[in-house]
Amino acid sequence: MSALTDVFTLSNGVTIPKVGFGTWQIPDGAPAYESTLEALRVGYRHIDTARAYGNEASVGRAVRDSGVDRGEVFLTTKLPAEVKTAAGAREAFDASQKALDLGVVDLYLVHAPWPWDDMGSDHRDGNVEVWKVLEELLDAGRTRSIGVSNFDVDDLEDLTSRTDVVPHADQVRWFVGNTQEETTAWCRSHDVLVEGYSPLATGGLLDDEALARVAQRTGRTPAQVAIRYLLEKDVLPLPKSTTPSRIRENADVDAPLSPEDVAELDAVTTRR
Ligand code: NDP
Repeated sequence: MSALTDVFTLSNGVTIPKVGFGTWQIPDGAPAYESTLEALRVGYRHIDTARAYGNEASVGRAVRDSGVDRGEVFLTTKLPAEVKTAAGAREAFDASQKALDLGVVDLYLVHAPWPWDDMGSDHRDGNVEVWKVLEELLDAGRTRSIGVSNFDVDDLEDLTSRTDVVPHADQVRWFVGNTQEETTAWCRSHDVLVEGYSPLATGGLLDDEALARVAQRTGRTPAQVAIRYLLEKDVLPLPKSTTPSRIRENADVDAPLSPEDVAELDAVTTRR
């Protein structure tokens, strides 16, 4: 099986393709439409967007036009980080579903525990309030799974102690040298899938020396090694590119890394 079609299984039994195509910072209109369509042509079957990316309409249109059965594509979108009320969450989900025009959403995430302009602020009550709406949406069959993003252990502990459904996934910034040990361990022990966003550190990882050494030794590119590293750790990578050759390159990640390669990458400590 290829990494594009091989799946992780969420705690509720829903399966999710092991590599997702990221769409942050891809403008709505032709860029998001063409990139998503190219990703689907190459064989990606998992697309990651968000209300905040402003490109749901083009992503949805690309999925509809791709000729790939809707049931074969896993589509994630996210509740804007600043929405922390039940009414706001219902309204935002309706708007996302309408813009995507793909019917049932596959995974709906709370984008962050705090608004982006006030990172670290305390919205525990608001997160519980919106999570109850996500539970309703799950119950109603409007999304097949629900999760969070940028939640650390404290955020997860608080949410899960006050609500019923344990998130099916936590999407966090995860790459060589930024492996989120505590959050990842918590997720493992609670059967929460870890999705790794920015697997290339938004491009900033690609000049890393250890990555270059492993790439040269294995005959892979630095991006392929960086993405494969997440798969070796059972973390779901979400690489983004608008460049067709890179969209293809980033999907060619079936070749495993040896334990020595992984150990060399484990030793990277550069902060990015
Ligand atoms: P990545 O870590 O995937 O890096 C993307 C950057 O690397 C782009 O500049 C891209 O350029 C470049 N690039 C991609 N492939 C290659 C390659 N093979 N060789 C050289 N350069 C390459 O970026 P993101 O930060 O966008 O993260 C990926 C996805 O994760 C997002 O798109 C989004 O879906 C998700 N995300 C979620 C967040 C959250 O809060 N939940 C926050 C951030 C990201 P180019 O496009 O020009 O080819």
